[in-house]
Amino acid sequence: MRVFIGIGSNLGAREDNIKKAVDKLKAIASIAIEGISSIIETEPQGGPQQGKYLNAVLQLSTALKPKDLLKVLLKIEKDLGRIRGEKNAPRTMDLDILLYEDKIINTQSLTIPHPRMFNREFVMKPLLEIYPDFKNKVKKIKL
Ligand code: ADP
Ligand code: MG
Repeated sequence: MRVFIGIGSNLGAREDNIKKAVDKLKAIASIAIEGISSIIETEPQGGPQQGKYLNAVLQLSTALKPKDLLKVLLKIEKDLGRIRGEKNAPRTMDLDILLYEDKIINTQSLTIPHPRMFNREFVMKPLLEIYPDFKNKVKKIKL
């Protein structure tokens, strides 16, 4: 399955955190990394006052089902020192499933496509860098 993941970090050694998250994903047998965008620095959106983010988007192929992939991502966030505080709090690592093939999922723990990605420049810019065709898909969805 072709999957796109949004990565963000604004605490600690941000670039290192991103590299570590990618390495952890690489180490999982059922996941292959197919593409990595540039890393961009972005302003935090909402939440308490906090430092700038580094953001990137990854393309994976995986046999994991969405909810099993989510479990893997939440574990990596935790292993990289993520502490869950208030909404939009600063974080060492945020891993979001943006797209999972063409699936639409709306469960309590998972919404795919990620509902807030479309108006987030820090997601769309790196996503379109590695998946330029997505532009045409979005147009179709909006028609
Ligand atoms: P955000 O990334 O919106 O700032 P969090 O990372 O704290 O918020 O939210 C994590 C929770 O969001 C997860 O426990 C998960 O159940 C839920 N969630 C819903 N849809 C997704 C998705 N597409 N990707 C990742 N987490 C999601
Ligand atoms: Mg998240």
